[in-house]
Amino acid sequence: MRDLVDAGAVIDLTRRLVAVDTQNPPGNERAAADVARAALDRFGARFDEVEPRPARVSLLATVGAGDGSRPTLVVNGHLDVVPVDPTAWTHDPFGGDEHDGRLYGRGTTDMKGGIACAVEALATLERAGIERACDVVFHLVADEELGGALGAAVLVERDLVHGNACIDPEPTSLGVCVAERGLLRATITTHGVPAHGSQPHLGVSAVEKMAKVVLALHNADFGDPEHELLGRPTCNAGVIEGGTANNVVAERCRLEVDRRVLPGTTREEAVAGLRARIDAIDDPELRYDLDVDLFGEPSELDRDDPFVATFQKAYTEVLGAPGPLIGMQFTTDARFVRNQAGIPAIVCGPGDIDKAHGVDESVSIERLVDATALYAQLYATFAG
Ligand SMILES: [Zn+2]
Repeated sequence: MRDLVDAGAVIDLTRRLVAVDTQNPPGNERAAADVARAALDRFGARFDEVEPRPARVSLLATVGAGDGSRPTLVVNGHLDVVPVDPTAWTHDPFGGDEHDGRLYGRGTTDMKGGIACAVEALATLERAGIERACDVVFHLVADEELGGALGAAVLVERDLVHGNACIDPEPTSLGVCVAERGLLRATITTHGVPAHGSQPHLGVSAVEKMAKVVLALHNADFGDPEHELLGRPTCNAGVIEGGTANNVVAERCRLEVDRRVLPGTTREEAVAGLRARIDAIDDPELRYDLDVDLFGEPSELDRDDPFVATFQKAYTEVLGAPGPLIGMQFTTDARFVRNQAGIPAIVCGPGDIDKAHGVDESVSIERLVDATALYAQLYATFAG
């Protein structure tokens, strides 16, 4: 299958997607959705679009009859990219330069390269003269980088996500990702009683109380057992600010924490874990509020799910051995597919996560070819 991949076509489509500026924020996926639509049109795709806000477009494309006569494989990919500061780059972030076997530009790794592979895999299969075993439904969504509220979440809310399995070509260095930690971002505010700085005993310092909170939370052991692929949950006390002057006992102090949780942990449990540790400080003068800024659910696919075996069979066929099973420390849109739509989803793509979001983001052209062949093999063999 690998010999049948047209590397030039994969490079070309990656470049065309990278050339479209879809930085989020502010977010504008319209032109990238149009590029993807043109690329999928030649496979007889039927299209639908969701646009919850102007220019925040998610493209849905069905390749195949879509009448249930064959199983459906969903390809979930996001069209948005994180912002770029071009001054630090040695390549044009929207140029798609080729250098030393790599393609450079914002989104080459995360994840326009992966989307190009999934599209060009259809052409690879045609070249091989092999019929698809499944319909392939592309969900090329907006807004993943800011949590997916205007992309994958909308598709789920409108009951548009249906299929027998899903692949998400996010950058995993072609590792087979079946588990993701969840993310809780929260702001904790302590409240004190102001007094003159020369008489701290007459007040209650919000800064002093927050110091205790930081020690209770940062890098703390929350008592959860270790996950085989994800390790332990974590908590980072990342931002702190408080007080108004050095001669005033601080009335208020703010702390922003980033807590990563394991599959099975709900938003309520993640918050309760923070509160339990703060409350255990047992200081009657400690008064605080806790506000949740963001919660991205953890998710996991059971390794015994038949889709894992099907995927690994295709992987072995193309790349010589099963792919390494991995977990990721952050969330992707696969969580909506796994948790809300109830569809088994594997995240596996050609980019490297350490190249994502960085200066001079790039992807290996060899890995693009590998991924294209892998997806083609999966389209040929996924029978539900
Ligand atoms: Zn991504």
